[in-house]
Amino acid sequence: MARYTGPACKLCRREGVKLFLKGERCMTGKCALDRRHTAPGQHGAANKKVREYGMHLREKQKTRRYYGVLEKQFVNLYKEAERQEGMTGENLLRLLECRLDNVVYRMAMAESHKEARQLVRHGHFTVNGKKVDIPSYTVKAGDVIAVKSASRSSEKIKGLIEGLEKATFPKWLEVNKEAASAKVVTLPARDDIDFDFNEQLIVEFYSK
Ligand code: SF4
Repeated sequence: MARYTGPACKLCRREGVKLFLKGERCMTGKCALDRRHTAPGQHGAANKKVREYGMHLREKQKTRRYYGVLEKQFVNLYKEAERQEGMTGENLLRLLECRLDNVVYRMAMAESHKEARQLVRHGHFTVNGKKVDIPSYTVKAGDVIAVKSASRSSEKIKGLIEGLEKATFPKWLEVNKEAASAKVVTLPARDDIDFDFNEQLIVEFYSK
């Protein structure tokens, strides 16, 4: 399935929750969801009864859209989560958090997952000193993700590095603002993921 190229805010309105797909704008009064809290479409404002299947589907779609992952990639991550030891739902969230594009977003080197994906694709980041331009690349504990030295002269990257001063970071990442790098101190635990996901609903969606 191709990547969605329509209006990002429509996705938030569909899921009824802020997915922070447009960076800075999401924090302002211009946020479409803050202004219009109904689903998109002609019947978006209708008070529809959400059935059990719909509830599971919406949670899966919300999670997938938050991370900007294609359906096929999401299914593959779910299968990988099932193969791993422990709770499948938590494994799935950890795998999503450990994608390189998400790490770039968490280290505040991008305003949104979409921007992080683009920056990675354009080869602006290294993992343990080697250029990696695959957004779905999975980082491991101990990996060091950094801005490629040649990219530091780009105006866009310079602005993002300056922004690190005011940024906050999850505790599983040790960010060096000077070097514009982050070390994965430990893999993220469920409590480290600061977004309202109900991973159990996703597990139930795929278990049917
Ligand atoms: Fe979603 Fe951001 Fe648009 Fe608000 S501004 S609806 S959070 S993408």
